Amino acid sequence: MAEATADLDHRHLWHPFTQQRDWCDAEPIVIERGEGTELVDAEGRRYIDGVSSLWCNVHGHRHPLIDEALREQLDRIAHSTMLGLTHPGAAELAARLVELAPPGLSRVFYSESGSTAVEIALKMAFQYWQQRGGQHRRRTSFVSLTDGYHGDTLGSVSVGGIDLFHGAYGPLLFDCHRVEAGDAERLERVLELYSEEVAAVIVEPLVQGAAGIRVQPPGFLRQVRRLTEAHDVFLIADEVATGFGRTGTMFACEQERVAPDFLCLGKGLTGGYLPLAATLATERVYEGFLGAHEDYRTFFHGHTFTGNPLGCAAALASLDVFRLEQTLLRLQPKMRLLAELLREVAAMPEVAEVRGRGFMAGIDLGEHDPSLRLGHRVTIKARERGAIVRPLGDTVVLMPPLAITKADLRRLVVIVAASIRAATAAASPSGEAQPLPRAA
Ligand SMILES: *Cc1c(COP(=O)(O)O)cnc(C)c1O
Repeated sequence: MAEATADLDHRHLWHPFTQQRDWCDAEPIVIERGEGTELVDAEGRRYIDGVSSLWCNVHGHRHPLIDEALREQLDRIAHSTMLGLTHPGAAELAARLVELAPPGLSRVFYSESGSTAVEIALKMAFQYWQQRGGQHRRRTSFVSLTDGYHGDTLGSVSVGGIDLFHGAYGPLLFDCHRVEAGDAERLERVLELYSEEVAAVIVEPLVQGAAGIRVQPPGFLRQVRRLTEAHDVFLIADEVATGFGRTGTMFACEQERVAPDFLCLGKGLTGGYLPLAATLATERVYEGFLGAHEDYRTFFHGHTFTGNPLGCAAALASLDVFRLEQTLLRLQPKMRLLAELLREVAAMPEVAEVRGRGFMAGIDLGEHDPSLRLGHRVTIKARERGAIVRPLGDTVVLMPPLAITKADLRRLVVIVAASIRAATAAASPSGEAQPLPRAA
């Protein structure tokens, strides 16, 4: 069975963010099912889902409550359109999200990926100022953070700043001003000079995930909000990765008492079950789009599966689980345990730095020859020991489901530490693969 899958895969599939030549040289792991916070392959081997199936799983796989909600929804309808029609799940979920989100975010626009959630916020911000008219029509550019990641569609790539992912598409992208995360002074200067041309500032609040789990200095987000308010520029908070408990609170913005003008949600929205995303906006933004039909102030945007009822049912059930299982409360001691375990990892000679916040952690192995693929080697060693992790370059990411037990969390960190030791030793028997500590 697994061989048949591997064979068909190698003949016909093209994987995301993957050099297919390397991929086809290796036997793939064929995941057959999940159980709680573990994945089970076709041979029956079990692995801790150490990166939450790419940062999205929250309560574990096959959670009985979410599964049941999906079955019930299936007995009614799998999909109907939001263009010209509505349905109970979409409406109820919108109300629940507005209630949970920072104050002022009163409108919910659905899509199906984090990238589209960001794309929508960018287009809404742009179109809002165009419709305000006059001088505001000059507000056609954006400010974003160096090394930011907001998804892979062209708008979200334009405001992204990771050269490895984005460099190739330069000629297709729109320009934007970039500010180093943490440098509020530079943001202030940029806004003093250019605010009349800027539609919005976009940030990943508290932690830049794909940049390698880079943590911002405390107070930075608050300063960003203060500056965007002072210059009357919109703030877009991309909480696609940080949302739904990742950093210890439902949304990262809460930790600095920030209410953005736009909030982008994805990944954990459905508990990591289904592709559903949401862009929340303020009433001010929403009202900027109201008018007579023939004014054409409509937001001309929408995807076929926008607000998919199965996705909404999963998201509603996931929010129920947050309440019933007191997920955020029970997360706090686990966050402390993870921080404690990672202090030991940070002391390993093979490790240059450990960064993180809550249940987002990056173990940086330092600068190495990229052809060594050290981060990748660690993930291979971790598989042999029973955990699935995925690196960002030579930073090993740990992003377990919030529901993981303390015992499994410990096991995950032990596996990863042993895998780092094994991979580093194998890459350099003489010990030369020791990291050069990073300059800054
Ligand atoms: C993953 C991610 C996205 C993109 O989400 P997709 O669902 O993969 O399109 C956008 N922003 C951030 C911060 C992310 O981590």
